[in-house]
Amino acid sequence: MKKIIIALDGHSSCGKSTMAKDLAAKIGYKYIDSGAMYRAVTLYSIENGIFKGEQLNPDALEKAMDHIKIDFHPNPETGKSDTYLNGKNVEKKIRGMEVAGKVSPIATVGFVRRAMVRQQQEFGMEKGIVMDGRDIGTVVFPHAELKVFVTARPEVRAQRRLDELKAKGEDTTFEEVLDNIKQRDLIDSTRSESPLRKADDAFVLDNSDLTIDEQNKILLKMFQEKSN
Ligand code: C5P
Repeated sequence: MKKIIIALDGHSSCGKSTMAKDLAAKIGYKYIDSGAMYRAVTLYSIENGIFKGEQLNPDALEKAMDHIKIDFHPNPETGKSDTYLNGKNVEKKIRGMEVAGKVSPIATVGFVRRAMVRQQQEFGMEKGIVMDGRDIGTVVFPHAELKVFVTARPEVRAQRRLDELKAKGEDTTFEEVLDNIKQRDLIDSTRSESPLRKADDAFVLDNSDLTIDEQNKILLKMFQEKSN
């Protein structure tokens, strides 16, 4: 069996990370959540006055880029990887609604994308990697052996995300989450820098009516076909 690169792209909150993580654990591949990297840049920007209210200061962000170091380290308690920003575990903070509300504008900035893509490509040097995001099959790894474009109906995605946020104790509503998802889809798909789009050679996987187990089986089958 040869080692390959697996690129999972798609809309916000459609369960890409869950699929990617489960697959990587099953086949012994490294998993990288590229969205976590954009979220970490966003958190840095919020905490360091680079946002004035809703307004992003691109010059301040460009100056700060050299001071933003993002890593992933395994968490023995959860068995998953946590995101670190300048040596601090920010896994919980980057998942909240404040970061979610500001991440898409950050992800439209060209110099931010170039810095993230460079690091993502380094992670994939030795193959044997599953990476999820918006531009993995189109920009980061255009030659990935397996590309999947994941989607689900917005209402289904909002309900799943709401359940997740509520379980973490975050106080929000279905409408607020749905609105955030639609807003992020719109910004992600219409931005000029690496817009979210299906790579020509990607499989489409709509998981609106699939269980996690069903979607994992479909993905595993695709992997087996491509890596043999
Ligand atoms: O995947 P997740 O929802 O955590 O990603 C957060 C945001 O980061 C997305 O809404 C999108 O704007 C941006 N993103 C991106 N390119 C990626 C991954 C995420 O633009 N490869």
